[in-house]
Amino acid sequence: MVNADLRKALARGREAVDETTRFWLTVNGQWDEEVATARLCERSAPFLQPITFNRAQEARLGADWLWWFIEQESETCFGMLCQAKNLKKKGSRWKIGFGQANKTGAQMKLLSRAAESLQLPAAYILYCGDEQYRDGLACRTHSAFECENCARAGVSVISALGAQYLCDSYSTDANACAVAAFQRSQPVEDLVAPETPDGALWDMNFHECVGALQAFLSQPQYGAARIAKQLFDQLSSLRGAQFSRMPPALELTTLPRNEFIHPILPTDRGHLPRPYYRDVLQGLRKAVPTYVRDAEAGRFDRLPAKVTSAVNGIVITYV
Ligand SMILES: [Zn+2]
Repeated sequence: MVNADLRKALARGREAVDETTRFWLTVNGQWDEEVATARLCERSAPFLQPITFNRAQEARLGADWLWWFIEQESETCFGMLCQAKNLKKKGSRWKIGFGQANKTGAQMKLLSRAAESLQLPAAYILYCGDEQYRDGLACRTHSAFECENCARAGVSVISALGAQYLCDSYSTDANACAVAAFQRSQPVEDLVAPETPDGALWDMNFHECVGALQAFLSQPQYGAARIAKQLFDQLSSLRGAQFSRMPPALELTTLPRNEFIHPILPTDRGHLPRPYYRDVLQGLRKAVPTYVRDAEAGRFDRLPAKVTSAVNGIVITYV
């Protein structure tokens, strides 16, 4: 069971972003992340439902927003804190400003701190321009003849924890970092319906997993869990590619059992900055948080400061 309509809507949104970036590139050589996000939401409507908190502002999302995927029937949901980033090009070199500092400090740290306070994974939505703009840049599973993966890459998603690891690994080479991040990201529509069947995922901590967590990894997932698994897969493959033979940390951590679908998780992180099981799976919940329902109902005065200070809005997507 794959929500094919949602996938089509996201593909429509991505095509619209491709158009927008193409237009603005010819006008002034760059595009604005917020404009791209607005286009993504507009063209994916009504599947993506943006809710902006400050109604006095133009009704569009800023660079940071919360994205909640909610299952209609079960209330199972997956949330992630998203930050939009452009893939920038200078000559033949690429750059994604992950580590940029602003007035309040380094963006990457601020993003992970905000995500931690919301107990959610953070992710970057990468606006990568159209295929012509990305000439010379190939995906990880590239096929020389009309690569479909590359064709869908205009709006891609990468786990922020993964991006942080890549930034640390390529700390002196912004081009290599941007290329690696692009290659480790996946097209936004593939989050809800990956091209290849969402089957067994072998993770190096598989045998430490207890309860339903082994089934989550080894069996196809649907709805919110599928999206969590896609993001998890990015981190699991980064962890698996660490050839240092760093042994997994054989410990488990326990999240509050009433909220989280998978409360008992391996703490291993390898060379990743934080334990990756927790990073992603804290976003997979049994019930929709109250603040999401409050935002949906327009009760903005009830939203907690940790939400309103972190983001300009929420995008709700029923899966
Ligand atoms: Zn490709």
